[in-house]
Amino acid sequence: MPELIEVEQYREALDVLCGGTVRSLDIADSAFARPRGVPLGVFDALVGQALTATSRHGKLLLAHFGTDGYVVGMRFGMTGRLLIDGTSPIEALEYASRRNDPAWDRAIIDIGGRVVAIRDQRRLGSIELDPDTRQLGVEASAITADALHRVCSRRTKAIKAVLLDQRLIAGLGNLLADETLWQAGIDPRRPAGALSEVEIDTLASTTVATVQTLSARGGSHTGDSFELRLDGARCVLCSGSMTHDTVGGRSTWWCATHQS
Ligand SMILES: [Zn+2]
Repeated sequence: MPELIEVEQYREALDVLCGGTVRSLDIADSAFARPRGVPLGVFDALVGQALTATSRHGKLLLAHFGTDGYVVGMRFGMTGRLLIDGTSPIEALEYASRRNDPAWDRAIIDIGGRVVAIRDQRRLGSIELDPDTRQLGVEASAITADALHRVCSRRTKAIKAVLLDQRLIAGLGNLLADETLWQAGIDPRRPAGALSEVEIDTLASTTVATVQTLSARGGSHTGDSFELRLDGARCVLCSGSMTHDTVGGRSTWWCATHQS
């Protein structure tokens, strides 16, 4: 958390400010700026520039400014939220603190008198001028079977780890990856390169459908398998036992019966 669904909600909130001009930009925490060690003065170029558009690639929110084409990239890590005038489209993130402390505001931008803040308790997010989006893989919300096939081909690491690797597929986090594999009936530990063509097709279409469904419901935590992430839970698709282990470095739940 936040995954692409939450970052898309941040983007929609920020997009309302298009047309407004940057009056001030304050990076309260220099460690939040990327690349590491960048002089904070580079961000001064944004003052006086108008917000012209917003976009998103995976979990990276992009704000486009002015006629010179400045782009600000915002990343939200594990606990980052975007607030506008003190209000966020997401009141509280799953697995993050319910506290809401302005001391966690790492960057604050005044756009046309509206105050945009990145509030990030654990400070794993970042802000960057003109980020290199080529480091990011294919956008998960629109992934095709062909693209997923290229990503998985000959890869020996677990499919769950591949889904989470932002350099390969951008946007999925732990909850979306688990829900998608559960819906697709694929064991998260399977080597990605061992998936059949039919399984790749199913996984690609299930990824897109899962993002659409959970976006409509309001978040990455609204999947049908979310309530099954506890010991003793029974799969609602097949009544099998839910199993838990660390896969791809992350806490992973799956159904031992229908995911194979
Ligand atoms: Zn099952």
